[in-house]
Amino acid sequence: MQKPNPFLAEAALRIKSAKHAVAFTGAGISAESGIPPFRGEGGIWNTYDPIVLDIRYFINNYEASWKAIKAIFYDFLSDKYPNNAHKTLATWELEGIIQTIITQNIDNLHQEAGCIKVIEYHGNAQRLICLDCQNYFEVKQWVFHAKAPRCPKCNGKLKPDFIFFGERIPEQASFKALEAAENSDLMLLIGASGEVSPANQLPMIAARNGAYIIEVNTEKTLFTSSIVDLALRGSSAKILHQIAELMNDTKE
Ligand code: NAD
Ligand code: ZN
Repeated sequence: MQKPNPFLAEAALRIKSAKHAVAFTGAGISAESGIPPFRGEGGIWNTYDPIVLDIRYFINNYEASWKAIKAIFYDFLSDKYPNNAHKTLATWELEGIIQTIITQNIDNLHQEAGCIKVIEYHGNAQRLICLDCQNYFEVKQWVFHAKAPRCPKCNGKLKPDFIFFGERIPEQASFKALEAAENSDLMLLIGASGEVSPANQLPMIAARNGAYIIEVNTEKTLFTSSIVDLALRGSSAKILHQIAELMNDTKE
């Protein structure tokens, strides 16, 4: 039998024996579902101007912003499905191996994979919020009938319920994520560049409180040389699957 990669074996052991393991995920975990990250090669910002996600620009240029937002997020997200990384995390949550997932993603793929304890740090594209009456609406086909959608209750402007530049992190998510980071004894950083603030503070807080930090990423990140204890290079779907297999091999 082939000897297991010692780094993967170490990760499997650490994750399994942690009492409060938290997964912290970024755009990279969804790359293999066909959703490009914002930055880097093939990133969304190579094609679109980030100003369309600036809250002031959005309010003042409602029609134009919606046109870009529809193209970036909705035309694109509709036929995307969870990959093996999302599915492995869902299994680990079910088995009690990980306690919480903090995600920066807005694509709903953790939830579609069956994860329940997901903290949506940046919100979720599947919901819209009315900027006038504050009611929430699920994204359905009617949203795209008109040029830019209007609130069915008050005709107000509808904004995707993820945070735009210039907006604060939702209070509940911020509180819960901080609590999870402070209490974690192990944090798995998956497909997150560490360039987005304040989300990038959460792994720092976990590390400061003594959590063991495992990074799964195709590349080096801002976290790698500062807080990471074990860096696993490669695609998250492949690496998480390999770790899960090692865990299964050691099951009775
Ligand atoms: P990022 O775009 O800044 O970085 C993505 C990271 O993923 C990089 O470090 C890259 O090396 C890594 N990566 C790429 N492919 C990978 C793979 N197959 N396996 C493992 N790692 C891989 O992403 P970010 O740090 O999450 O920050 C961008 C912000 O943009 C986030 O806050 C998020 O809200 C938002 N965003 C979300 C989505 C989404 O919901 N899927 C997509 C794009 C951007
Ligand atoms: Zn309204």
